[in-house]
Amino acid sequence: MLVDTRDFTRRETVSGAILRGIAPDGGLYLPVDFSKKQIELSSMLGLSYPETAKKVLAPLLEDFTEQEISDCVDAAYTRFDDERIAPLVKVGDHYVLELFHGPTKAFKDFALQLLPHLITTAKRKNGKTENLLILTATSGDTGKAALEGFRDVPGTGVIVFYPEDGVSDVQKAQMVTQEGSNVRVCAIKGNFDDAQTGVKTLFADEELVSELKARGYVFSSANSINFGRLAPQVAYYFHAYATLAEAGALRVGDPVDFTVPTGNFGDILAGYLAFRMGLPIRRLFCASNGNNVLTDFLTTGTYDRRRTFYKTASPSMDILVSSNLERLFPLMNASDKETAGYLRLLSENGFYTVSDELKRKISEKFGAGFADDEKTFATIKRVFEKERYLMDTHTAVAYAVAEENDHAGVPSVVLSTASPYKFSSAIQPLFREKASDEWAGMESLREATGVPIPKELAGLRDKKVLHTASVGREEMKAFVLSVL
Ligand SMILES: *Cc1c(COP(=O)(O)O)cnc(C)c1O
Repeated sequence: MLVDTRDFTRRETVSGAILRGIAPDGGLYLPVDFSKKQIELSSMLGLSYPETAKKVLAPLLEDFTEQEISDCVDAAYTRFDDERIAPLVKVGDHYVLELFHGPTKAFKDFALQLLPHLITTAKRKNGKTENLLILTATSGDTGKAALEGFRDVPGTGVIVFYPEDGVSDVQKAQMVTQEGSNVRVCAIKGNFDDAQTGVKTLFADEELVSELKARGYVFSSANSINFGRLAPQVAYYFHAYATLAEAGALRVGDPVDFTVPTGNFGDILAGYLAFRMGLPIRRLFCASNGNNVLTDFLTTGTYDRRRTFYKTASPSMDILVSSNLERLFPLMNASDKETAGYLRLLSENGFYTVSDELKRKISEKFGAGFADDEKTFATIKRVFEKERYLMDTHTAVAYAVAEENDHAGVPSVVLSTASPYKFSSAIQPLFREKASDEWAGMESLREATGVPIPKELAGLRDKKVLHTASVGREEMKAFVLSVL
């Protein structure tokens, strides 16, 4: 069973939590007992990525049968452009875990290629026949990955809201050209936090929920507030570890560090779940861009969102309210009341300070750092010139943070979350005179670096724009009603 972070007496099966997305009181579903979730590390060696995912998901998706998990996983990782799925590459003193080989070229595919299968299975298990309306707020990559994962999946519809000026040119092109009979995309006049808050408000809007029900729909979420988004991400931490062991870079049981480019705190939280399931992670480093609210929290114990929101070159991390941080507190032994209290302070006052006890526990495992755009660009350029390895802006934020921290002689793994070509408008001018548009920019970046353009991105230029809606935050509800 999973518990609600804000009220441990509210319990939900894993399949039920995947269907609901968020708990009725706004809390998030979380596993708390890891005693039956321990993974035997030596059994992970030599496995393919799907085999690893099946082993790791079995204890996490506890009310799914082995066969159900196996069928879901076999259907999920078929559209990756590297047969290793999550290759690990040595770059300088660090290992880069490439998580961008899926169809939308960002790590979100690891969860969102699988989630539709988990949801369909969960519906069947729970005897649910309503259609699911997946509402998603995106800082750029979740939207496209959700659209691609759920397109034409029977019994589902997807609406994606993205911040009008808060995503890269290529991210926007990916979304507005999305095909599929059950998908809608809408720009929001505001930033990602506005979109995310707007979506959370819609979930809690009783009038809208009953209107939906009358038309045979219930809401669900494809954001990382959904446990079905987190669980699949745990697998690649184990897979990276097994890859290091197979390469002789460590012996089974030795510690390892991970540095994770972080926005909503979902990816790094999956790393912490891996640790609780027996992966010997020494430290997890949370890497932020100029929106460094998490760096401050992890160093001071005070979370304060009352600050300037910056639009950076790593837009998928332009977030001031990191939803998944809430899940960390119960995992660090905070009570439900304590957790709910912090979240109430955040929404009422815009900040909170955790207890000394909680702060101490968190800093035992988590380190933090940030890189502004200037440092990010310098890192991309320097690493390319020295190692001939091209990173995207999000990966470079993490690489810069990994370089600044002491890894105490243990292997240091940096998670690479997107293809550089998703952010070519920002990266290309580092290498050549600024190109006239994003398509010329991709071509120029390819000429300068020799790194091939992924076919899904190269083909975007010729696709038709199918989604042009743009609304203010207060019009999101009307938009949902209009497309029903
Ligand atoms: C979503 C995203 C992140 C941040 O991941 P969280 O789970 O939100 O912390 C980092 N990099 C890229 C490219 C992303 O799309």
